[in-house]
Amino acid sequence: MSRLAVVTGGTRGIGAAISVALKAKGYQVVANYHKNNDAAQAFAAQHNVHVQGWDVSDAAGCQANLQAIQSKYGAVEILVHNAGITRDSFLHKMTPDMWHQVIQTNLNSCFYMVQPVIESMRQNGFGRIVLVSSVNALKGQMGQTNYCAAKAGIIGFAKALALESASKDITVNVIAPGYINTEMVQAIAQPILDKIVSQIPKSRLGTAQEIAHGVSFLVSDEAAYITGETLNMNGGLYLR
Ligand code: NDP
Repeated sequence: MSRLAVVTGGTRGIGAAISVALKAKGYQVVANYHKNNDAAQAFAAQHNVHVQGWDVSDAAGCQANLQAIQSKYGAVEILVHNAGITRDSFLHKMTPDMWHQVIQTNLNSCFYMVQPVIESMRQNGFGRIVLVSSVNALKGQMGQTNYCAAKAGIIGFAKALALESASKDITVNVIAPGYINTEMVQAIAQPILDKIVSQIPKSRLGTAQEIAHGVSFLVSDEAAYITGETLNMNGGLYLR
């Protein structure tokens, strides 16, 4: 029986590429999404991947949906928590709502998503957890105090959980993408995007498939000795 992987935000952008890559590697994949039901159903039909909609910022929703997935398909052995949002603004103009939405969706969701699956991973003596952070967690970005705080928090979360889980053959790693050509980045104003690309040593945006390759490796048996790490995939941006 192939391993079961859950990918949050797994029907669009980077997450969609991750779902497709894991399916191609022979895993059973359940791709989570939030509100874009049309995109999710089109994705499911095109790639023959199970999709399930819920809000990862809702603790009870995560608990109920993960329980339903485990009852239907078996224990979740691979969790790729990729769903994330931005609500950009300089801090002096940021509303409490913008702050809380980003912390809730990008960081608190790590607790909501991992807690319901970690016990069975411990009991089964196997697990692969990959959390998607961002280059901006490491280098900072104007207008993103909320996002950078949440994405940096993910790295600390992963390191602590990696220590707790290593003896049970559960690895916990982070991928920190640079600027990847998805709708999230296409929403950036063109002059700002041009400036960003001019600062990337590879002189281009990354592709969602390139990030998916990193995830495929980290969840593989070959990556069993890698835990608590952050894999930077940013075309060299972090070097400048
Ligand atoms: P997109 O905006 O293209 O897609 C986001 C996905 O997350 C969608 O599938 C969306 O669901 C889902 N999602 C958003 N909020 C929730 C929620 N509350 N509950 C469940 N699912 C949700 O994003 P990207 O593919 O660009 O980004 C994916 C991840 O990578 C994010 O965590 C992002 O922060 C991170 N990242 C992206 C970078 C980039 O350059 N693109 C750079 C660095 C990090 P739905 O389809 O229903 O809307």
